[in-house]
Amino acid sequence: MRIGVLALQGAFAEHVAALRAVGAEPVEVRLPEHLNGVHGIVLPGGESTTMRKLVARWGLRQPILDLAATGAPVFGTCAGMIILANEIDGGEEPVFPLLDVKVERNAFGRQLDSFETDLQIADLGEAPVHAVFIRAPIIERAGPGVEVLARIPDGRIVAVREGNVIAISFHPELSGETRFHRLVARLAEEHAVRTGAAEAAEANDANDANDAGDAGPKAG
Ligand code: GLN
Repeated sequence: MRIGVLALQGAFAEHVAALRAVGAEPVEVRLPEHLNGVHGIVLPGGESTTMRKLVARWGLRQPILDLAATGAPVFGTCAGMIILANEIDGGEEPVFPLLDVKVERNAFGRQLDSFETDLQIADLGEAPVHAVFIRAPIIERAGPGVEVLARIPDGRIVAVREGNVIAISFHPELSGETRFHRLVARLAEEHAVRTGAAEAAEANDANDANDAGDAGPKAG
């Protein structure tokens, strides 16, 4: 199962390794053509302002939005979450406004610049998720269609899902946590089956239409 990892900047290598560990076939995405044949995409952590610029420079914005529109899973971590939000505190222009959330960048300030904690995430089973936060964003507002997957003890939201789009404030790929990648790989597989089935159905429809229009006997 081919899954793209946006590889312009940031912690993409760790996602590549995590996807490989769960049996998926990671593809580093730097140009639109690298998206051919992928059934999902991971947007890594890093620096969202730099990522925004590079996404624009390499013409990746619309192709990634198009992939998301097919229902392929999109998974953003940290900076990847920021670029998925439809509102960024401070008024920065959204990049891929696929999530009805408002994010605040660097929400933990200097004291808590980086920290680790264990989170309970029901969708991933009983064992807690060891979460590494690095100059992490927080979700300040989540729209009614957004499922909250996890909060830190003070109640702030750090993991969400809206349909095929999953975003988390922290870095599972840095702590050997592969359950998110497993989930993404499963969703990618379902997407492949769905779109494969859709293509086959379209081909059948086209054949039926041809058959209907055919007066004479068919060769082949
Ligand atoms: N602070 C970064 C930003 O605002 C995100 C940090 C990260 O991805 N680890 O883009």
